Amino acid sequence: MLFRQIRAEGDRNFAYLIGDEAAPEGGVKDCAIKECAIVDASYAPQRVLEEAQAHGLGVRYVISTHSHPDHIAGNDYLLERTDAVEVMHESSPRVCRQMVQDNDELELGSLRLRFLHTPGHIPDHVCVLAGGKLLTGDILFVGKVGGTGSHFPGSDPRQQWDSLQRLLQLDPATEVWPGHDYGAAPSSTIGREAAGNPFLLCKTFEEFVYLKAHWAEYKKAHGIP
Ligand SMILES: [Zn+2]
Repeated sequence: MLFRQIRAEGDRNFAYLIGDEAAPEGGVKDCAIKECAIVDASYAPQRVLEEAQAHGLGVRYVISTHSHPDHIAGNDYLLERTDAVEVMHESSPRVCRQMVQDNDELELGSLRLRFLHTPGHIPDHVCVLAGGKLLTGDILFVGKVGGTGSHFPGSDPRQQWDSLQRLLQLDPATEVWPGHDYGAAPSSTIGREAAGNPFLLCKTFEEFVYLKAHWAEYKKAHGIP
């Protein structure tokens, strides 16, 4: 599995390239299907496409974790230049060739991409699980969580809490790869977030909502940038 996290301008956005360079089982190496998925191309679709081409990978899927403009900004560029299928959650306002539901899986060479519907920041949000790596978009960042409130139409802190509790059920070794570089490191694990992310340490929904409302003071008190 080839995996690349690519800085994609915008608001410290991250784009991702997930590729399978392996030959299919029993296949002839020269006939191997070498394909990739691009997730949240954001403002760097050209750079991500060049990276795919440098590895000899055809783009099979163009996936967005959710429909916020900074995450789908690069999709049209990629769809105009490749035969890729655009993939988003079925509730997305953007009509795609492939609309997925919770727990749907897509094959990518010998890999499987699993989609977890994780609303809260926005109703159409999905996380993408690929070979022990979880692309968490804007629901979970390193040491922080995605925004809710009047700036984010359709957001719902209760749904976000439920989505985060669900992610906490994953194997602690699952790697966390967020949609923005907002944390102390560009990636983490579910175990590390469970042990250190203040929002995931909240014991109740009420505590979670209180922390969201008082995050500025909390950050100041704990020296978090
Ligand atoms: Zn967003």
